[in-house]
Amino acid sequence: MQYRKLGKTGVAVSVMGFGAGPLGGDHGPVEPDDATRAVHYAIDQGINIFDVSPYYGRTVAEDRLGKALAGKRDKVFLATKCGRYDHRKFDFSAQRVKASIDESLKRLRTDHVDLLQAHDIEFGDREQIINETIPAMREIQESGKARYVGITGLPLKILRDVANRVAIQAILTYCRYNLMVTDMDEILTPFVRQRGIGLINAAPLHMGILTEAGPPSWHPAPAEIKEAGQKVARLCRKRAVNVVEIALRFCLDHPYVSTTLVGMSSTAQVKRNLNALNFRIDRELMQEIQETIAPVKDQVWPSGRPENDD
Ligand code: NAD
Repeated sequence: MQYRKLGKTGVAVSVMGFGAGPLGGDHGPVEPDDATRAVHYAIDQGINIFDVSPYYGRTVAEDRLGKALAGKRDKVFLATKCGRYDHRKFDFSAQRVKASIDESLKRLRTDHVDLLQAHDIEFGDREQIINETIPAMREIQESGKARYVGITGLPLKILRDVANRVAIQAILTYCRYNLMVTDMDEILTPFVRQRGIGLINAAPLHMGILTEAGPPSWHPAPAEIKEAGQKVARLCRKRAVNVVEIALRFCLDHPYVSTTLVGMSSTAQVKRNLNALNFRIDRELMQEIQETIAPVKDQVWPSGRPENDD
């Protein structure tokens, strides 16, 4: 496993991170014991960053991850979130954020998280995020319940704008840098690089689009993007390559991203995904993949309040 510094925090995180979203069951059924084994196996293989949220499985993912980390908490950099609690339930008030961290710590069975992130800030009021949410998170940081503070979301410009106006240590963005979309590098990467902010790239499989089984039914992408992903999966299968490995390898090759978070809930998935660390991309196949994706390249879907979208 390779490790990279998360911005200026000085903390070294594994280049492949464990996205604990699927532990909540929203990506398909989870066998709790296998989920625990997957977490333990990942730690044994050197994965040291785990990302979760109260939103995933409406608290189930945090609870499962907390159980699995019992006795292993000191081996990992643990990231969770605040402000999002259901599909349409957001509360970025200082009061909710302060209650939220205590609830998360209880479920995660720990006295602090390493990173607390305001979850999907494009659904909030930008001025509230800047003047109320992040200052409340800063107080949480000062109390020792979180070591670092960050923000997450899909639209890139609001992430850049907020990070320009208040100090944060990390930004998590998703579905903006993978085989199908790379505009993170135009809009966000130069800014975070220049400021020394940690960059976490999530959803290298485009939230399940770049898998053999395809995305979950709730996936917000338009049909043509999902179809293009399935074409890529078929193309890879014809070449005896697993689409997951090439999709992950592509993200792992990014020169600045500290960690690529892939969502996993079973040991088999962790094993498969770790193969990507030694996978070599065949140039001809990559060329064909890019041709297949070209009609939908860099297309994303709307997220959050219209005034916060890119
Ligand atoms: P992803 O692109 O990592 O894809 C995950 C999907 O792929 C799941 O359905 C999983 O079962 C499947 N999968 C994983 N490995 C596989 C394998 N080897 N073979 C077949 N299928 C496999 O998308 P994601 O889980 O949404 O994103 C990763 C993590 O990033 C999340 O769990 C979460 O921690 C974080 N994230 C955060 C935000 C946010 O803060 N707004 C948004 C998206 C993701």
